Amino acid sequence: MMDFFPPSRLGFIGLGNMGRPMAARLVSAGYELQLFDKDASLSEAFVAAHGATGASSIATLARGAKVVITMLPDGKAVREITLGRDGLIENLSPGSVIIDMSSSDPVGTRELGAVLLRNKIALVDAPVSGGVARARDGSLSTMVGGDDAVISRVRPILETMAKHVFLTGPLGTGHAMKALNNLVSAGGLWIATEALLIGERFGLSSERIVDILNASTGRNNSTENKFKQHILSKSFASGFSLGLMAKDLRVAADLATATGQASPLTRLCAELWNEAEGKLGGSQDHTAIIKLLEGGATAGSARQSRGKAERGEKS
Ligand code: NAD
Repeated sequence: MMDFFPPSRLGFIGLGNMGRPMAARLVSAGYELQLFDKDASLSEAFVAAHGATGASSIATLARGAKVVITMLPDGKAVREITLGRDGLIENLSPGSVIIDMSSSDPVGTRELGAVLLRNKIALVDAPVSGGVARARDGSLSTMVGGDDAVISRVRPILETMAKHVFLTGPLGTGHAMKALNNLVSAGGLWIATEALLIGERFGLSSERIVDILNASTGRNNSTENKFKQHILSKSFASGFSLGLMAKDLRVAADLATATGQASPLTRLCAELWNEAEGKLGGSQDHTAIIKLLEGGATAGSARQSRGKAERGEKS
């Protein structure tokens, strides 16, 4: 059973901003890909640019595949294409492996893994960090949960897309770690945006603020890699949508609830990003949250006014 791993033929589902460059790395490394995206134009464009084969359905992709990679918006989409009619579970043979590289919810991942195991299909969660640029050059980080023996069989596939492969423990721990990473990342972006706008109002130049943060203790991934590139330039083109970031924060807040850990800032952060998604729209780039904070009308202002009213203070 071990001798055909990793197989030369892989199924790959989800050719969005991240799926395309990740699939392109696999093609360059010599894997034969069978592709599916519910938007057929994406697989047609990929096949024209990189080769590979477009599958007409999930069932066609799954038949004969030993490994299927999913890069979908969330765990709900992964469960739909796995458990739904003509889905992966009906069409994959025993001994197959599904690698879910989407940022899915860890509790749902554990439940899905248990269902798949009853059908002798293994699930590995291997979400990634690094964004589109690092997906292109194969230097993503991946945090991988699941059975160690299964992971070691698919590791060469993961190493084609990721420079750093971290084993996190049992199934679901990769997805948990990814949500926690994005919680820290989203909090850092939001607070740095507020600092930038406060500083500008006091008369500091925005470029200067970013330069000083980046040479000081306030620096974070957003100040280094997002502010000048996507926010000050107003390009808002990081390739990671506001809707997906808000989803990750809901996952992190749900994880806090599931573990019973007190985490007031986690909840506030999830609430702020959810409000931003509601006001700006989920398809905007996540770096566009500054548009909500510019002009003084902040997502948190309603909450602050409510708090003052409850304490009998004037706004
Ligand atoms: P995306 O929205 O650009 O792409 C998702 C793709 O999935 C789309 O092409 C869509 O048509 C397809 N899809 C959705 N439902 C489907 C279904 N039922 N069947 C088949 N195809 C379906 O998203 P993305 O930016 O590529 O992100 C994918 C995942 O990776 C998300 O979980 C996201 O949170 C995570 N992620 C994104 C980034 C980033 O920088 N964009 C970085 C790390 C992790």
